[in-house]
Amino acid sequence: MVDFTLTERQQELKKIALDYAINTVMPSAAAADLVPEPDQSFDWDLVREASRLGLRTLSVPRDYGGEGADVLTLSMVGETIAYGDLGVAVAFDQTWKIMTMLSHLTTEEQRQRWLPKVMDDDTCLLAIAATEPMSGSDTIVPYNEPEGGIRMTAEKKGDRWVLNGTKRYISNGGLAKVIYVMARTDLSKPPMESLAGFILTADTPGYACTEVWDKLGQRAVQNGTLEFNDVEIPDEDVIGEPGNALTELGGLLTRFGSNIQAGSTVLGVAQRAHDITLQYARQRVQGGTAIINHQIQQKRLARMQMLLDAARNYLWYAGWTTTQGNIDARAASLCKIFASESALKVTQEAFELWAGTGYMKKNPIEKLLRDALSFIHSDGTNDVLALKAARLLDEFGANDPRYSKRVEEAAAGL
Ligand SMILES: Cc1cc2nc3c(=O)[nH]c(=O)nc-3n(C[C@H](O)[C@H](O)[C@H](O)COP(=O)(O)OP(=O)(O)OC[C@H]3O[C@@H](n4cnc5c(N)ncnc54)[C@H](O)[C@@H]3O)c2cc1C
Repeated sequence: MVDFTLTERQQELKKIALDYAINTVMPSAAAADLVPEPDQSFDWDLVREASRLGLRTLSVPRDYGGEGADVLTLSMVGETIAYGDLGVAVAFDQTWKIMTMLSHLTTEEQRQRWLPKVMDDDTCLLAIAATEPMSGSDTIVPYNEPEGGIRMTAEKKGDRWVLNGTKRYISNGGLAKVIYVMARTDLSKPPMESLAGFILTADTPGYACTEVWDKLGQRAVQNGTLEFNDVEIPDEDVIGEPGNALTELGGLLTRFGSNIQAGSTVLGVAQRAHDITLQYARQRVQGGTAIINHQIQQKRLARMQMLLDAARNYLWYAGWTTTQGNIDARAASLCKIFASESALKVTQEAFELWAGTGYMKKNPIEKLLRDALSFIHSDGTNDVLALKAARLLDEFGANDPRYSKRVEEAAAGL
């Protein structure tokens, strides 16, 4: 049975997150968006407060002091924080994902060493570093020849690995105190057979964030270039089996709904755009009446609501399948595409209704439109996620009741 009735705890967390979004995040969000230097906009007090409320460590299992929140709960809370500001929500969403990885891809010994570091420091954010100047989508839908994909190298020297290379566009880059990074153990083998995952702290010698990218939206959070120059990682900080990281991490991120969480955060932006547009439509008078009384604007608002509901239901369905231990992997990718495209459409419709006023920076709509654009590419481009989902399509043969001989003949031109 599919049941989206929220548990008491989920309702409580939603309330905590909404209060945090409206009263803590929102008051400074517009100003943070306008800070010209991209490395100056992040507000650590927001992280301290989220830690106090238990929001930062939501995905850490209860045995280690966290909330042990499932994907559905993380999605709901992520959407709610993004209602206040998308960049702030991304800072936590990335942190939750790596905490999930640290909780499920690690040995007990690694959990005992790493999770307390994350739990005990109320400003500990995390990052995942895969993308490189010459490798983006190649990691999401792997190009399986040795010359494609990640170029960062990990060379084994005794009981240590030495990492060299550059990562870019990394969310929480320059903010994260703990970083998960992927590197190739052997450039003569395809990435599927030669990637390893490593965990390190930001004070490890040879590691540095050398650039914080100036970007269109999500301006409250940082995206960094990370340089690794002879960074030494001890054997005990290799995550999983060296060579198999792409399969292990890809499987984990699918199982624990990375794309579902991403789609949920951008939906928070669209919900905010809808809500303030509804208010504006009730107050703005043109043609002798509030513009909400013009039928065409009523239709616009109804369609915005429809997209929000449909996207949320899709995300929650995909999230729900993860809680059943049998994820619908295709839906898990496709729902992020639908949510991010719907979010963009909703904010664009809002922009139309606000007209000239929406174009002005003094008003909130143009920021929401810039924010909504980010998830068309982030967490995998929508094209590439569609490609990934298409590869999961069932192939049916002649014994399947859906199979039609006539279709086969038509395809052969008979
Ligand atoms: C806001 C933001 C936050 C991010 N955060 C992180 C992060 O925390 N960690 C991280 O590792 N990365 C992060 N990224 C990087 C992001 O994952 C990449 O931008 C994304 O995977 C695409 O890579 P690319 O930009 O190099 O584009 P490319 O891979 O160069 O793609 C260019 C175009 O080609 C298309 N394309 C690529 N391959 C194929 C194919 N096989 N078939 C058909 N079309 C194809 C793409 O869809 C796209 O339209 C972030 C990006 C953004 C914008």
